[in-house]
Amino acid sequence: MFADIIIDIKHERLDKIFQYRIPERLEGELEAGMEVLVPFGKGNRRTKGYVTGISETCDYDLSKIKEIGDISREGVEIEAKLIALAAWMKENYGGTMIQALKTVLPIKQKENARMKRRLRLLLGEEEGKEKLEFYLQKSQKARARLMAALLDDPVLDYDLVTKKLNITLPVIRALEEQGVLEIEEEQVYRNPVKKTEQAAKKIMFTEEQMSAIRRFRQDYENGLRNTYLLYGVTGSGKTEVYMEMIRTVVEMGKQAIVLIPEIALTYQTVMRFYRNFGDRVSIMNSRLSPGERYDQMMRAKAGEVDVMIGPRSALFTPFPDLGLIVIDEEHEPTYKSEQTPRYHARETAVRRAQMEGAGVVLGSATPSLEAMYRARKGEYILLELKNRSRMQRLADVYTVDLRRELREGNRSILSRKLQELMEDRLEKKEQIMLFLNRRGYSGFVSCRECGHVVKCPHCSVSLSVHRDGTMRCHYCGYTRAKVTVCPECGSRHIGEFRAGTQQIEDIVKERFPQARVLRMDMDTTRQKDSYEKILSAFANEEADVLVGTQMIVKGHDFPNVTLVGVLAADMSLYTDDYRSGERTFQLLTQAVGRAGRGERPGEAVIQTYSPEHYAVETAAAQDYEAFYAQEISYRELMGYPPAEHLLAVLVSCGDEELLDKGCRYLREYALRVSGNARKAGEQKAAGQKTVPEDTRKRAAVIGPASPGIDKVKDIYRRVIYIKAPEYDTLTGIKDRLEQYIEINSGFNKMRIQFDFDPMGI
Ligand code: ADP
Ligand code: ZN
Ligand code: ZN
Repeated sequence: MFADIIIDIKHERLDKIFQYRIPERLEGELEAGMEVLVPFGKGNRRTKGYVTGISETCDYDLSKIKEIGDISREGVEIEAKLIALAAWMKENYGGTMIQALKTVLPIKQKENARMKRRLRLLLGEEEGKEKLEFYLQKSQKARARLMAALLDDPVLDYDLVTKKLNITLPVIRALEEQGVLEIEEEQVYRNPVKKTEQAAKKIMFTEEQMSAIRRFRQDYENGLRNTYLLYGVTGSGKTEVYMEMIRTVVEMGKQAIVLIPEIALTYQTVMRFYRNFGDRVSIMNSRLSPGERYDQMMRAKAGEVDVMIGPRSALFTPFPDLGLIVIDEEHEPTYKSEQTPRYHARETAVRRAQMEGAGVVLGSATPSLEAMYRARKGEYILLELKNRSRMQRLADVYTVDLRRELREGNRSILSRKLQELMEDRLEKKEQIMLFLNRRGYSGFVSCRECGHVVKCPHCSVSLSVHRDGTMRCHYCGYTRAKVTVCPECGSRHIGEFRAGTQQIEDIVKERFPQARVLRMDMDTTRQKDSYEKILSAFANEEADVLVGTQMIVKGHDFPNVTLVGVLAADMSLYTDDYRSGERTFQLLTQAVGRAGRGERPGEAVIQTYSPEHYAVETAAAQDYEAFYAQEISYRELMGYPPAEHLLAVLVSCGDEELLDKGCRYLREYALRVSGNARKAGEQKAAGQKTVPEDTRKRAAVIGPASPGIDKVKDIYRRVIYIKAPEYDTLTGIKDRLEQYIEINSGFNKMRIQFDFDPMGI
């Protein structure tokens, strides 16, 4: 037996795995993730390493292979646990072990950690005074100044000495050489959470909140580590409940990770945690430098932090005794990584928790189909908050059929109902949020005569019009002058489809000149902090209307908002994607949930071209149960996740011909290894309830197809889908495909990635 080993990841670059022979005495005991001592390098120095995998075959010269010394008995290091997690990720999501390791291990960056340096006097008082005399006699003024200062205070801050006393490094070095002082160094970790004085507000938990907390606490204290789905309507106080659960865990000396989508990770949210857990809270976000992120990881590892808050990647915080992982807004697509390994934070969290004896709490007002499906099957424990925390009512919702608006002569993007309600709110000095649910739709140029849409020559996406009059590609940045004549038919009736956030802002200002309007989208939030600035301006009621994309619907609490308008609810329905219904339902529910969170009740207007679509209908009725029932039966019928599983094999290449050839081979091979799968699919589609046992584990292969956008920056893209009832069937096929790709050099020019249960197709 042989083991794959990665050598002391703290110092070496993570680019090579070494094979070692497993001595007989360790066979059966040695497992992936363990820390071992191995001879390494020319001198066979005993070095720490981590087992990343075990195999029966050796890929190297058998006579040269070294043997593992021993399993390290010093107690498992946190890295070892994360390596075991990486091995699981590689297995379940594809890619290489190195890619998985890079995902889970905090990697020391080149950037120097910030050191705190001090000077310490080594001489006694008498000797010190003698030295001082000596320097004064010799007119060595700088030395004398430093000596005098050290006699006053035997430990001095280095910066103070160099900046305030104006003493240079050679002087310090000279005294160091003479044995007068020593330079001490201590690493200080930067803490990105700034202090405030505010105390946590006292909360009287509602009966519902209390019962969720009690259930969790009882289980936890009884040693049960479960995954809980906290399904609570918007404003039901989920965050307060998480904090109470975290308190339970922290009081037992354990640590907690809280995942929050980056966009909802605002100053206000962090402060809520800070007020409860003080400076034992740390955050991670994309605005921290790599050095700062590393520092946060090291603080966590050193036990200086109890609660780490951050987006997806905070899941890999190396806590010594992890007690709980909370995933807020569990349904958010950003929890799925878009880089290999394309892991989902939810499943990976559950796995990490299992390995380390921690619990998991998933929270959402609109649980993902995956989470609710598991909860219904009893894999997760369902905790419900059916009411808003201060018993506010949910908003009243009006659905407006835009087709009818047009028929009745209203050509504005604002329906009559919405205009009427906006008028009312502006008069009452209450606030309004207008929400457009798709950015990619804004400002594209199409011909009214022939329907031609102007696209990017390098990417198959439409170009968007910018205020400066140019047309741009959002994928590659390609820019050209705006067209005035259709390149296809020569018609002059070519123009912008006006439905971007910028256009809406203009329309609102035109219709309601008295209104103060703020806009939040990709364009207005490009600068650092602009996101927070817009939100706090709106929270301070410096504006009446906030216009924005999905950014504005995420978990913000604006008590004075009593009207929400969803301008074109179905934009997200017109995507050719099995999750589009779910996405639409979630966005609409979250948007509607922004209204009426304060004292006054709220209203919402949903404008749509498809009022009869079940996702729109159930969102308007705020009826998750009804939505879930419809959606899950569709997934079951079609064999989509979570009912069954789907593997997308993404293939890309600059040479289209080569790409198509490669895809044909991949498809053939996938068919071969997946057996006679179509039959099972056909039988099922024909309404046959029970699929014969021998075909149950088989998979269906679909494609190659275009992944919607089939060219980006002149690189062509294809996708092959493989569908199977069991996840393991797909990981098996993935393993075979990876081997096939590795041994056939024809695939070298192609990039091939695996995406399990993709967030979209
Ligand atoms: P969610 O995360 O479910 O949207 P939050 O935890 O943000 O809800 O709660 C919404 C608001 O209600 C917050 O300002 C919160 O402090 C407050 N809140 C929650 N529970 C209570 C309670 N039991 N009593 C008073 N206020 C509460
Ligand atoms: Zn045309
Ligand atoms: Zn482009």
